[in-house]
Amino acid sequence: MSKLPGYENTVVCPYNKCHIILKSRIQTHLIKCAKQHPEIVLETCRFDVTHKFPAAERNSHEAECPSRENFDRYLYSVSTNNTNTGTASQSTTNTRRNPPPNYDDDDEDW
Ligand SMILES: [Zn+2]
Ligand SMILES: [Zn+2]
Repeated sequence: MSKLPGYENTVVCPYNKCHIILKSRIQTHLIKCAKQHPEIVLETCRFDVTHKFPAAERNSHEAECPSRENFDRYLYSVSTNNTNTGTASQSTTNTRRNPPPNYDDDDEDW
């Protein structure tokens, strides 16, 4: 497995294997290339929108997707945050009280 220098910055276009695209350009290229190949219907990776593959390959791709690890961590932190904000907003509602009645009594004395 020897790679040419700089090769890791490129991706092979899923619509045409002759297209070697810079990673920074792949999103734009995919939109253009999808229009040029309406007969090729590809699914988009849940973890990275620049990953395209035939529907039959979804399971095998997502099992090995290099972006999957980051996505799992992101999901975990989001769900943790959701739990915290849920508790916080509940306690805010509970601790909200009417103004103390003493204030009104003082006012009547005047
Ligand atoms: Zn292409
Ligand atoms: Zn992927």
